[in-house]
Amino acid sequence: MNVNQEYLQAMGIEVWQERNKMGGKTSKNDDTWQNLKSQVEGCTLCGLEKTRTQTVFGVGNHQADLLVIGEAPGANEDKQGEPFVGRGGMLLNAMLHAIGLDRKDIYIANILKCRPPNNRDPLPREVELCTPYLKQQIVMLQPKLIVTVGRIAAQFLLSTEESMGKLRGKVFEYEGIPVVATYHPAYLLRSPRAKEKSYQDFLRIKELLS
Ligand code: URA
Repeated sequence: MNVNQEYLQAMGIEVWQERNKMGGKTSKNDDTWQNLKSQVEGCTLCGLEKTRTQTVFGVGNHQADLLVIGEAPGANEDKQGEPFVGRGGMLLNAMLHAIGLDRKDIYIANILKCRPPNNRDPLPREVELCTPYLKQQIVMLQPKLIVTVGRIAAQFLLSTEESMGKLRGKVFEYEGIPVVATYHPAYLLRSPRAKEKSYQDFLRIKELLS
């Protein structure tokens, strides 16, 4: 409570406090996140609710400068309700650490909020019906930089059919926010020789964030 508020309270005037005020962003913002999360939890638009264990909304810091966007939850994420918690997630954490970031400092979300059966690629209809949630997350977060991991996330966000090979190493834009496309951690686990290029991408990400 500041001096003015103390003065008003001493005069018997009711003082309204913002609940849970963090870094200049208020509880109103937190409520908006919670509302969207509840909407996602109840979503039955595309049919994947029939096979999911739970939705995977996204996780991290609502004040983050960096938003990482993946494709869709896998088996581990579907069980735990959090993106990138399997082996790929551990590799993503390691890549973030390599540039001095921890996953709690950033925000992580996926194109789809529900796991496609057998980890198949998202269907165009699923992407169309689910991505308004991601777009809303981007509006609320207003990150300084978006990093897409894997072809599916890059192609959606950049409205392109280009291959990852063509998309890497450049800086694009989504709604005025810079976007960098890099390999999916699952691809790096299968093709460890690509890790060097991925490391170069992460150095670029560090530079863009500084
Ligand atoms: N792969 C993704 O793209 N996202 C996850 O959350 C997990 C695996």
